[in-house]
Amino acid sequence: MERKNSSGYNKENVKAVAKGREIEILECVAGIPIDFLDGKHHTCPKCGGKDRFRSFNDGTGGVICNQCFKENNGDYFAVVQWMQGVDFPEALRLIGDYLGMESQPTKNATYRTVKTWTYTDLNDKPVYYVDRKEGLKNGKPDKKFVQYRKVNSQTVYNLDGITPIPLNWKAITERIDETLFIVEGEKCCDALTAFGLLATSASGGSNTKIEWSNYVQNRQVAILPDQDKPGYQYALDVATSLWGSNQIKIVFLPGLAEKEDIADWIDREGTKSELLQIVESTPVWDGLPFSYASGDTAKEPAAKGKKEIIRRPRLINPAELEEKEIDWLWFNKIVAGCLNLLAGLAGIQKTFWSVYLRWGVWYGTSKPQPKPRWTPHFLFRLERLRCFFMRKFLIIRQHCGSF
Ligand SMILES: [Zn+2]
Repeated sequence: MERKNSSGYNKENVKAVAKGREIEILECVAGIPIDFLDGKHHTCPKCGGKDRFRSFNDGTGGVICNQCFKENNGDYFAVVQWMQGVDFPEALRLIGDYLGMESQPTKNATYRTVKTWTYTDLNDKPVYYVDRKEGLKNGKPDKKFVQYRKVNSQTVYNLDGITPIPLNWKAITERIDETLFIVEGEKCCDALTAFGLLATSASGGSNTKIEWSNYVQNRQVAILPDQDKPGYQYALDVATSLWGSNQIKIVFLPGLAEKEDIADWIDREGTKSELLQIVESTPVWDGLPFSYASGDTAKEPAAKGKKEIIRRPRLINPAELEEKEIDWLWFNKIVAGCLNLLAGLAGIQKTFWSVYLRWGVWYGTSKPQPKPRWTPHFLFRLERLRCFFMRKFLIIRQHCGSF
């Protein structure tokens, strides 16, 4: 009797065709590196635990991880479900598709896990995992990241209630004298780790919001942005979050094409010493925002196109400050041509006063001053969010130079 399920394949038929190709299925469909499939003990490709994984190599296609996969693990159907995080019909479909069996696949082609990263806490306890999956989307190579965690050895595909942590968190706390490289994505992180450097990333790259300042303080930081708009934005967000309590360098790698990153740079035979030299010669970030314009090569971001006059503030040592005569807009209260800060407890009418002052300066009133006077003024509210504040402030500062 022909029994069909939502996969479009029949399990017995698939088993018949798969006979003798179990290891191949484990490699190509489940996504387990072939070196791990010799029946000896290996690092678990899923949880990353050392020596706890082995394949049965008895014709069943089963494997075991003493930690994360020790039950219902007797055949390749189970292994594909485990590794790919899919249900049985989907595993059957993946295998049937792989074997080129007769059925019309309804969805896009398969994704397979090429690497799993484990985010561990300071006690080396796994908090969550990220799989990098590669496959085809509309016929083109595509990648995606899947985040999940384990609850009572069940896989849960969300991070609800979990505070995102940086990759290599423990190392960050232990290697405090080293420059910390912050990159976008685990792959870039691995590329730097292979150089023996201390590197970290948020899971899933730019999509996860880590409160970086909770993890990184009083140290040297090198941020390596991906060469695209979101990459620059990510770098700016991280830098802004760390601003003030760290020495930050934003390292724009020379020669990166659009969408490339440090991993690509290293792939093109970029060496560790070359990288360190670039970092060394990169000036400490001055706190000014930066953004990506398509076609930038990172060498001369502002060199082409229309001439743009950007007035920028100059950071100087307070000891070099020169005394200047103060141009009072409102004697002893508001200075003309400077940033004025109106600080006070919540609810004591700061907003009212700033609007009133603004109105008075613009239209002229008896108070604070008799005649209208043209002066650029900006009203912005700073409420709690430090990142928001920093960003807005920096943007305003860049556009206006001195007020
Ligand atoms: Zn495992």
